[in-house]
Amino acid sequence: MNLYGDRGNVLALAQRARWRGIPVSITGREVGQPIDWSEVDLVFMGGGEDSHQSRIAEDFLALGPELASRLHEGLPMLAICGAYQLLGKYYKTSDGRELPGLGYLDVWTEPGTNRAIGDVVTETSLPIKPPSLVGFENHGGRTYLGSAAKPLGTVKLGQGNNGEDRTEGAIQDRVIGTYLHGSLLPKNPHLADLLLRWALLWQGYSDELEPLPEDEERAAHQTILARAPNS
Ligand code: GLN
Repeated sequence: MNLYGDRGNVLALAQRARWRGIPVSITGREVGQPIDWSEVDLVFMGGGEDSHQSRIAEDFLALGPELASRLHEGLPMLAICGAYQLLGKYYKTSDGRELPGLGYLDVWTEPGTNRAIGDVVTETSLPIKPPSLVGFENHGGRTYLGSAAKPLGTVKLGQGNNGEDRTEGAIQDRVIGTYLHGSLLPKNPHLADLLLRWALLWQGYSDELEPLPEDEERAAHQTILARAPNS
């Protein structure tokens, strides 16, 4: 799935790796296609409308055990919005249909009465500097975290998971689920580099990455950050 420019995350990851001389190959997957897991060092899945989620849900479930066993072993994954919802226990669509999720993350999603739309600023518990993540949300679902799920961040601006508990996203192992579109990674280069470091560790390499010039990325980050109260 790919909504609101989510594919820009893949471009940002690949470019930041290539700038450092790390070779990258990007493999897209269509419903029903087999996966050569020996080729996969990082999984990305974008958001989708309810109709997109309905179309892929069964196939995603069938992939579940193979994907989940690798995620448990430390394969990194970034899942945005509709993909984040399907990594949880279930997603209830706006017309009340329940799509079962993988249950990898201890979260579940109920339909809201309106859509949560707008800029988002969060403070994250991830080991990254600065400790802020910025992006843009547009979702009808409200996600709730069970006791095993750790929020990705605390909301400073926007709705986040459900507009009630000020949590945004969820994290478990090296799996990040978030409502942040944007695209997310071009505006959060520190998060892109964390994912690249995790991919290097998954491959058995050192996770050291050369710093890159990133004035433009930081300026984009700062522009959204400044919209949060007391920033
Ligand atoms: N269809 C889902 C929702 O509205 C996910 C939307 C998205 O991926 N932006 O909550």
